[in-house]
Amino acid sequence: QDPTRQKLVEAHELAVKFYHYFLNNARQGEKAKRYLRDRGMSDKLIDQFMIGYAPDDWDVLTKFLMGRGFDPVLLEQGGLISAKNDGSGYVDRFRGRIMFPLYDANGKASAFAARIVDEGSPKYLNSPESRLFVKSRTLYNLHLAKAAIRKRKQVVLFEGYMDVIKAWQAGVDNGIATMGTALTEEHCSMMRRHAEEVLLCYDGDDAGQAAAFKNIPLLEAAGLKVVMAVLPKGKDPDDYISEYGPDSFLREVIDSPVSVTKFKLIYSRKNHILLKEEGRKNYLMEAVAIVAGVESSTEREVYLKELSREFDISLDALKQDCHGMRLELQ
Ligand code: ATP
Ligand code: MN
Ligand code: MN
Ligand code: MN
Repeated sequence: QDPTRQKLVEAHELAVKFYHYFLNNARQGEKAKRYLRDRGMSDKLIDQFMIGYAPDDWDVLTKFLMGRGFDPVLLEQGGLISAKNDGSGYVDRFRGRIMFPLYDANGKASAFAARIVDEGSPKYLNSPESRLFVKSRTLYNLHLAKAAIRKRKQVVLFEGYMDVIKAWQAGVDNGIATMGTALTEEHCSMMRRHAEEVLLCYDGDDAGQAAAFKNIPLLEAAGLKVVMAVLPKGKDPDDYISEYGPDSFLREVIDSPVSVTKFKLIYSRKNHILLKEEGRKNYLMEAVAIVAGVESSTEREVYLKELSREFDISLDALKQDCHGMRLELQ
């Protein structure tokens, strides 16, 4: 047991309570509280995730923690406070932001993600890496979701903190997220330790799709079966829940996943104008190329049959093209 590490966990645990208290009880926290309510977060949810508010002052947390005897050098290393440029003391690192505590897999508070109230840039600020917080090994909500992930043998991977929290409220108890979209091999093996399957539920915007395509091979390489959630264009899970409600989210998104191949077909399709012959032709060639990447010949036939029926093209012609593309792949 590393005593300085223990001290830093203690400081984070106090900071979590401090920020949470501030959100619920201080005048200053009211605006943030209203903002969270407007986004559909219940008080119960705010308590469960210990969401807080960092006051818009210079050194409230600094004074609070130093008053309890914490060494400022340690607090600075842990990213809770910052040294002033002129060396004359310390100030709070996070000011005027909504605070999402981050925990390690054992449920120890180890860092914060801090969101601006309303719009502005940067939207999120994370604690710097420290002896407690290594981004490549941190999965948001893993400590709460672990038991359900093991039970279901499935983990749901979201892009954002808000998505995890709102999905949790809707009944998704096996949801986690990375710190942004950078997924690492370590994240994948952590997931594989608890689950056999990952349901990838990224944002329905270009960034989300690009991240999904980039991360699928990483997840598969770790031995996870990957299935895909499909969201309407431009919506993230949190938007979806606000707009269509939790029941629809569970039914239409979480309980209706598609295969990776189907997902690729859906997105390729969205990029072509099928009312025009040119667009139809281009989509078909892209679709056949996607199917050509599928290993199982039975599965390939299932997809080709669907295309054949929909576009009234003979299955033979599609098979021939598909076969040609497979040869090129090898
Ligand atoms: P919200 O719903 O609160 O607006 P979001 O989760 O939908 O946030 P996105 O813009 O979709 O935000 O980004 C997805 C994730 O990427 C965020 O949850 C956060 O982890 C990370 N992220 C976004 N912007 C930043 C930033 N400026 N700095 C660090 N991480 C960021
Ligand atoms: Mn996004
Ligand atoms: Mn988003
Ligand atoms: Mn969002």
